[in-house]
Order: sequence, then structure tokens, then C-alpha cells
Amino acid sequence: MSRIVQKYGGSSVADAELIRNVASRIARGREAGNDMVVVVSAMGKTTDELIALAHQLVEQPDEREMDVLLSTGEIVSSTLLAMTLKDMGHNAVSLTGLQAGIHTDGRYSKARITAVEPQRIRDELARGNAVIIAGFQGVDSQMDTTTLGRGGSDTTAVALAISLEAHVCEIYTDVEGVFSADPRVVPDAVKLDRIGYEEMLELATYGAGVMAPRAVELGQVYGMPIMVASAKSDGTGTLICKEGSMELRNKVSGIAHDTNVAKIMVIGVADQPGIAQALFEPLARANISVDTIVQNAGINNVTDITFTVTQTDVLKALSIVEPVGKSIGAVRVTSDESLGKVSIVGTGMQNTPGYAARMFHALAAEDINIQLITTSEIRITCIISKSRIHDAVRALHKAFEVEFQTTG
Ligand code: ADP
Ligand code: ASP
Ligand code: MG
Repeated sequence: MSRIVQKYGGSSVADAELIRNVASRIARGREAGNDMVVVVSAMGKTTDELIALAHQLVEQPDEREMDVLLSTGEIVSSTLLAMTLKDMGHNAVSLTGLQAGIHTDGRYSKARITAVEPQRIRDELARGNAVIIAGFQGVDSQMDTTTLGRGGSDTTAVALAISLEAHVCEIYTDVEGVFSADPRVVPDAVKLDRIGYEEMLELATYGAGVMAPRAVELGQVYGMPIMVASAKSDGTGTLICKEGSMELRNKVSGIAHDTNVAKIMVIGVADQPGIAQALFEPLARANISVDTIVQNAGINNVTDITFTVTQTDVLKALSIVEPVGKSIGAVRVTSDESLGKVSIVGTGMQNTPGYAARMFHALAAEDINIQLITTSEIRITCIISKSRIHDAVRALHKAFEVEFQTTG
């Protein structure tokens, strides 16, 4: 008998028939004699709909109330799944994040898990129940509900797999695994059999929405293998695990893209110490992640600073940067929300020259203008117009196709 930790995403529990499908899969696991712990996301687009509803009433909704509101989506799906299982003759119980012992810090909408106390889960398993847990949520030290960031049910699942000492965390979704690019954009993308944590973390951080980046990070820190597979078939999926041997590493494992990008430009500020600090410290205090930062070479002691944030954060960021811009004497602060980013990722790129040139060549051949460029050791990212993102992903997939075949 094994302890199995599974997670089913929103697309896999989007309606009654799909919930019944998930219940049958859990029933099969139980009939094979396993202890089943199952994390669920909210049904379909519920979280987006709840966010839109709040914004119909309030421009910038209260963060505490928003987290309670969003946590209800996962409570709905967990209860429906538990009652379906019971109706099928299986003992099952649903638990909220609080009941499942998920403790977090108090950063609403981006809370981080500080501890997992799974005693109630263990007790319910001992009573013979399948335990169905509402993902994406926890409680802070004040017992206030928090949420773990978009896609956060993945993080709940990996955290539980670690604390319950499962062998692997199984993530079931609407695709067969992790592909060389988003299969919705590149129909001939190839499924990867395995991928290292490091590469998966870069892909996920730069837009490959199939896994939440923080879930991959947790898996990496605790060495928990993560299997991503389809909720509808019995395919083997993709195993996210420790990197293969150096020599077998992929040159390029995948292409990621993200259209949730906004650029903020602070034009005409003094080229002197303290300016970057004055801009970025208040953004960090407000919990806004800044991605690419570019400062132009100063002319006559005047320079421009450009940086990117998510579109979701742009209003909040502007409300902070505009007054700071005034106080540091900037000529003006402008923003552009019509951007996206496209990245190539692969551990084999490090110490191998020529990848950036090949990437720029493929984009130039499609007449795609690059606005900003950032790199890490295993990633090159170009920020381009959002309207050309899909063209860019397809062009890059074609340009690097030969690289995807070797598995690490
Ligand atoms: P879930 O509801 O199961 O959490 P998500 O929508 O969060 O599912 O993630 C699955 C989606 O991720 C897929 O439908 C696919 O369009 C998208 N995706 C983006 N990049 C990739 C990739 N490299 N491989 C697989 N899927 C990807
Ligand atoms: N329901 C949440 C979201 O849509 C969490 C998740 O799906 O993992 O982001
Ligand atoms: Mg997801």
C-alpha cells in the first residue's frame, strides 16, 4: 500500500462529468489499496470569474477580502468531489487549507507556506477516508485565509507530498505532460519524458503555465519528483526530477512565453547614486516583483530607467513610481502594457556560444522587433510586442527543433 498525493487542475474538474471522471480515478487508486490524498483547483475559470466580479464593484479590491473570496473556488470543487466519491461508495472527506494544516505568511495573494501540519490528514487516512483538499489556500498566524498565487494548487500538492513523505507528487492536467512549447500555440510541440528542476523552474517562471514556479522550486529544494500527466489518459507524462548527467543535458529543452508583461519607463532622471534605490525599494515593500531592469548609458548626467512588471501589478506599480518619479526629478513616467516575453531555456546552452545569435536571427527573419533582452545561464528572454508573441514562439520552435529530441 502506498500513499499517493495527486492534484487535479481547474480544467480537469470544470464540470460535473469531469468531477465524476476524477472521482473514478481516485476510486481506482483506493481499490488498488492506496491511501489517496487529492488536491483540487477551482472549477474551470472560477478564479478568473471571481476576480472579475470583485473588479466590477471595486477598482482595487481589499486584499484580505479578496483572498477569502478566491479561496471559496477550491472549497466548492473539493466538496463536490468528496460527495461524488461518497455517492460511489467510498469513504471521503474534504478539508480546507486550514483543516489540512497549511500555514503561511501573511502576504495576501502571494502567501508562502511556512509550515505544514498534516495531522488531520493522517487521522482521516487512518479512518479509511480519501482526503480531498482545497488547494491554493492556507492561513496566516492570525488565522486569516491567504492564497498562494495563481496556479497555487500545484504548490499545495508538492508541499503535502513532501510532508506526507510520498514518493512522487502527481499533477494531472489537460495536456499529456510538459511539452517543448505550449501545445496550444505550437501544435507539433513534443512531450518531454523528463526535465530537470532547474530548466522547469525557468520555463515555469517565464510563462509555461503547466506548472506553478513555486511548486517546482519546492520540489527542487526537497528533492520531491513531480509527475505531470493527463487527467484523461493513463500516459506516462513528464517526470520533473534531478538533472541528468552533464553530457546528456539538452541544449534547448523548451520555449516559454508570457503575455502578462508591462513596461514602465522613468525618463530623464539624474545619473547618480541612490536613484535606483529610490525607485525599487518602495516597489519591493509593496510586494511587486520587478523583472527586467535596463538603465541607459547616461548623457550629460541624465539617464532613463526601464523595467517590467506583470500587467496585473502595473496600476499598483504606477501609483508608487509616479510620485517617486516626481520627487527624484524625472521628466516623465510612462507605461506600455502591449508587451510579451518569449524565452528559450536549456542547461546545455551554458558555455555553448551562438544561441543568442540564433534566437535573434529567427526573430529578425519574422520581422519581429526586440525591445529588451535578459538572460540567465540557461535562458535567453526577448521582450517584444504582444501581438507577435505566437509568431515568435512558432519561429523559435522551428529554429531549435533539432535540440528537443535528446532527453536528459
Ligand atoms: P490546470 O487547470 O490543470 O492547472 P493549466 O491551464 O494551469 O492547467 O496548465 C495547463 C496548460 O498549460 C496547458 O493547457 C497548456 O496550454 C499550458 N502550457 C503552457 N506551456 C506549456 C508547456 N510547455 N507544456 C505543456 N503545457 C503548457
Ligand atoms: N484556482 C487558482 C488559480 O486559478 C489556483 C490553481 O488553479 O492552482 O490560479
Ligand atoms: Mg495550473
